[in-house]
Amino acid sequence: MKNTYFTAGPAQMYPTFEKHLQTALNEQLGSISHRSQKFRDIYKFTVEQLRQLMNIPDTHGIFFAGSASEIWERILLNCVEHESFHLVNGSFSKKFYEYAVSLRKYAHLLEKPFGQGFDYAEVEVPEYAEVICATQNETSAGVQMREADIHKLKRSNAKKLIAVDMVSSAPHPALDFSVVDTAFFSVQKAFGLPAGLGVWIANDRCLTKAERLQKYEDNSIGAHHNLPVLWKNYEKYETPATPNVLLIYLLGKIAEDLNQIGAETVRKETEDKAKMIYKFLENSDLYNTFVKEDRHRSRTVIVANCQKPSADIIAQVKKQGMIVGSGYGAFKDSQIRIANFPATSIEQVEALLKVL
Ligand SMILES: *Cc1c(COP(=O)(O)O)cnc(C)c1O
Repeated sequence: MKNTYFTAGPAQMYPTFEKHLQTALNEQLGSISHRSQKFRDIYKFTVEQLRQLMNIPDTHGIFFAGSASEIWERILLNCVEHESFHLVNGSFSKKFYEYAVSLRKYAHLLEKPFGQGFDYAEVEVPEYAEVICATQNETSAGVQMREADIHKLKRSNAKKLIAVDMVSSAPHPALDFSVVDTAFFSVQKAFGLPAGLGVWIANDRCLTKAERLQKYEDNSIGAHHNLPVLWKNYEKYETPATPNVLLIYLLGKIAEDLNQIGAETVRKETEDKAKMIYKFLENSDLYNTFVKEDRHRSRTVIVANCQKPSADIIAQVKKQGMIVGSGYGAFKDSQIRIANFPATSIEQVEALLKVL
């Protein structure tokens, strides 16, 4: 029997993954040159599908990296000369901040306890911060920052850039890319693909900044995949180095499948499943919802406090062919995390709740 994965990444494969993988094998995509027209067509197709699915305008280029955490470094190198500002409320947002410190940036930090979220009104951005780094979905704690708060934060700091980590929620958040300068995700989360591809969306303002920083003698934007090089290649639908052609192809095909269902329908299904899960937790004696404020509750990664040790619950659920994640860090033994990605159907979620 095959397991159903409710883990936050790597996660359940999207139902059409196998079919598209077989096509990729039949077409020998593992062997094609990344300087061929065939590859340029694949890159272009994936970009077009993502633009449609996530409403990404032509002002933004779409680039590929090895993983999302690589993109943290790219953004800090290419868009920050001296100062960055980080909203931190869990392990992933903390790491983004730590990358900035490692890169010798002056990194400002607004930190909240695990499980709490940020609202626009309480965030004061330091005067000289060049980039605001927000994590739309903090995977470790199951906390989201609402799109409207992200947009307001940027609108009231229009001269600064805003970078949005949407790694474990894309394509769910309806980000307004007329205000979001850069955002990124990786494919092993809500797109239901194997790990190994990060996707970086960045606008011309990020490019202009990188080009300016590149000219400074005492500053480096990095040798590997800096934004001006990525952009120059992207204009021809090429990549600076040999890319993960297979995953770029598969991402385009999954995005096409989601477009056929319709972005709004996919979004609504995710909302409906999230409501089901949260309602179950509220009504249960064995669990309760970790994140107290509804507006901060992630729609795609749901964290529950457990009465029993989480290892027992995880083992019990596994016997029924379902895999849920443990809590993160210090919450490993007292929490479970349930991913709510498009790859798992309402029926599969119902089956999980029954066992829980
Ligand atoms: C998983 C995750 C990352 C890191 O992604 P990788 O592909 O493992 O580099 C970054 N941010 C968030 C919020 C994540 O969930």
